[in-house]
Amino acid sequence: MSSTTERIDSSCSRRVFLQLASVGAFSAIAAGCQKTPSLVCSDPARLSDAESSLRASLHYTEQSSQAAQVCGGCAFFESAQQDACANCTILNGSVNPKGHCDSWSAPTQ
Ligand code: SF4
Repeated sequence: MSSTTERIDSSCSRRVFLQLASVGAFSAIAAGCQKTPSLVCSDPARLSDAESSLRASLHYTEQSSQAAQVCGGCAFFESAQQDACANCTILNGSVNPKGHCDSWSAPTQ
């Protein structure tokens, strides 16, 4: 099971910052750094074959195409936080709060 949790913000990388700063493009830096960073919740290279197979069979994706059905709003997402990776009891591993799979289910009231 992978529990890798990291933020990747390519628009604010040190290299890009230094390149833009060297030409005085501070407005571009400000605009680029205001973009929402991508949240990566699992490293496919660290998943077992069984974990990868389960994710594939349920069509798990890190970014849901349905705004109303995201992992963060699923009954199987084990966190109240909507901006951090958390465990999914179906996939038995870390998932993206903005992700989705075929087992999405609304929480019971
Ligand atoms: S069951 Fe699917 S939609 Fe629900 S939290 Fe797990 S991966 Fe996300």
